[in-house]
Amino acid sequence: MDFVTPPSAQNATTKPKSTGNIKKNEFILPLHGEIITKSELERRKEIYSKCGENHLYPFQAGNYVIDTTRKGNSARFANHSCEPNLIAKRWIINNRKKGFRAIGFVALKNIAKNSELTFDYGYDYNPKTSQRCLCGTKTCKGWIGTPPPDVGPADEKKTSSSL
Ligand SMILES: [Zn+2]
Repeated sequence: MDFVTPPSAQNATTKPKSTGNIKKNEFILPLHGEIITKSELERRKEIYSKCGENHLYPFQAGNYVIDTTRKGNSARFANHSCEPNLIAKRWIINNRKKGFRAIGFVALKNIAKNSELTFDYGYDYNPKTSQRCLCGTKTCKGWIGTPPPDVGPADEKKTSSSL
């Protein structure tokens, strides 16, 4: 996945939860927001920064970005997890902007009612923005997305020997 939602989203207080039992592969909800170009996103980042807006919610959508920072649905508040129960899928939709991909969330597994809905943000490591993961799952990688390159087998060994 190539999500660009920042790690700060993990601290969002609004956590979407399932309102009923959900079956694996069931379509959950689309992602709604403003469809903008990548250059417009860069312009907005500066504006949001000046306004003190620290939680940005842009999602890569083909050649475009769906910016849910100020307009969007509850999908934007889904937290990252290393054991997610949702996956973000992209679709080509006719009669939309060329190169645009719509995003929707699908259940990766059966989900019980009132479960927090999460997905893997899939970030590439960035020394300026990558954050530690606090998902608390058994297979937590310790980082939201790819760990730093200097986190190698030595760190994994240390972790496993401490068990
Ligand atoms: Zn984790």
